Amino acid sequence: MSAPRSVYWAPVLRLRLVAWARAARTREACGVLLGTRELDAVEIRCAVEARNLSADADAFVCDPGAIVAAEQKARATGLTLVGFWHSHGSGPALPSSRDAAGAWPVSVTAVVTVLPRPSVRVWRFEGRAAVELPCTELATCVGPIAAHNQPWTQSRMTASP
Ligand SMILES: [Zn+2]
Repeated sequence: MSAPRSVYWAPVLRLRLVAWARAARTREACGVLLGTRELDAVEIRCAVEARNLSADADAFVCDPGAIVAAEQKARATGLTLVGFWHSHGSGPALPSSRDAAGAWPVSVTAVVTVLPRPSVRVWRFEGRAAVELPCTELATCVGPIAAHNQPWTQSRMTASP
């Protein structure tokens, strides 16, 4: 699988990530990104929020149960896990060295911040080096994208059924 070099998504997803980041306030919110991959292009179609199990306010550990549940939902709808997202309660949407150390190979990492203004930037890692990926917002959010988003972005997904 080749490293991702470009990202496509609908504006509603960016708004959803910012809303989750705002709700988490100074803690980090986190979750999973589901979508499709075509060569080195990634289309993010769905964002899922997972419980942050980290005891530290400035770190995140995605609830593994939520990751497994999201992967199962993805498989059922023809999507795959394409990456992870998390917020920075303060500071820019730049990945930290801890983010680089914890990143999964060939997945994308979206970093969300609300201060000083809402921003979502998407990265991949070459070793510990972060490479920002150009994001293209899809003009419309209809059909399969909207259908995939409806049930999942509305509610928090946790390990418990
Ligand atoms: Zn981070």
